[in-house]
Amino acid sequence: MRKEVLIVGGGPAGLLLGYRLREHGIDYRILERGKIGQSWRAMRTGMVLLSPAIPGTDWTSLTLRHPIWELPGVRKPFPSREDFLCYVEAFSREQALAVSENVAATRASVVPGGFSVETSGGEVSCRFLVLASGASSVPRFPEIPGIATNPHVLHSHDFVHCMAYAGKRVLVIGGGNSAAEIAIELSGASRVTLSTRGPMRYFSETGELEDIRGASESLLKELIRFGIVRLREADPAVAVAQRRVRFLSGDEREYDWILCATGYVPSWIPVEGGELRAGPNGYPLISPAGETTVPGVYACGSLARFNRRCAFIHGFRNYVEKIFWDIADKR
Ligand SMILES: Cc1cc2nc3c(=O)[nH]c(=O)nc-3n(C[C@H](O)[C@H](O)[C@H](O)COP(=O)(O)OP(=O)(O)OC[C@H]3O[C@@H](n4cnc5c(N)ncnc54)[C@H](O)[C@@H]3O)c2cc1C
Repeated sequence: MRKEVLIVGGGPAGLLLGYRLREHGIDYRILERGKIGQSWRAMRTGMVLLSPAIPGTDWTSLTLRHPIWELPGVRKPFPSREDFLCYVEAFSREQALAVSENVAATRASVVPGGFSVETSGGEVSCRFLVLASGASSVPRFPEIPGIATNPHVLHSHDFVHCMAYAGKRVLVIGGGNSAAEIAIELSGASRVTLSTRGPMRYFSETGELEDIRGASESLLKELIRFGIVRLREADPAVAVAQRRVRFLSGDEREYDWILCATGYVPSWIPVEGGELRAGPNGYPLISPAGETTVPGVYACGSLARFNRRCAFIHGFRNYVEKIFWDIADKR
């Protein structure tokens, strides 16, 4: 198969770029290793988004011409994971986007006139290659001695439901949104401790994007105040030996489970014959139009850190336009 533009990843960014390309009659295909919106399918059932979606404050919709809040039954102002999945499904089907589901790209090579991409469904060649494979599929673990290969340690990515931890002592490592949400969810069922590297930060106090706790901020504060969630603020774990954890303060405690809510490492397929360089933050180095250090290869969506806002849909949706125009201009 030969395509003008090949997009790796059928998440929000890949779908949005596909929509723009289709609108302008540019030949493209999106490869998705799972189903449309696969990263969101892997998230916890019932999870509520951090980004609001109501007329006037819409951080979640892919385009403002197709807003999520127009779907009947969407939870407002913060949609649920299920709302969002229905939305991307509907968007993709209604816009008749060219998506091949259950096809994973494994590697790309630079060839004359573009790229050859190996996939689980055979080889595809293209002139432009867009990496829209996201930044939330490879869990990041903290570099604490005793964490690696410890059977009592897991990542928030693998947390399904509090039921599995009923009656257990659980240490949640992290001070971000996932840590907050999981601590809240566990609080009725387990004995939860939340350990953070630095002082707790809340959006209502800092106004900073990273500090958004969505619907959970006040609930978490209350649980901490009641002592139902024990907070070890700025007292990170420094060493772990099986269930035993030593904290910076010198205190040592035992837990049944140590749950790391410590984010993800960005990753993408290798591009042979080109040097795709990453910056100090681990993300691909990109031009102002999203082109990586390999001419013709673009990073799109949450994988393209034009700025810190690009972790969110409202941050990257305008940059998807830039990538689209750059490709359109170069044809
Ligand atoms: C817990 C959590 C909560 C979040 N909450 C919000 C929120 O409320 N609001 C918000 O705006 N953002 C939120 N985000 C960020 C969110 O992930 C992004 O906004 C959005 O999903 C990024 O879109 P994307 O298309 O760049 O990446 P993704 O959604 O990750 O999509 C990438 C797609 O690429 C596919 N893929 C990867 N590798 C390959 C391959 N080799 N071949 C084929 N397909 C591949 C994946 O299966 C996936 O479907 C959250 C992230 C996390 C982890």
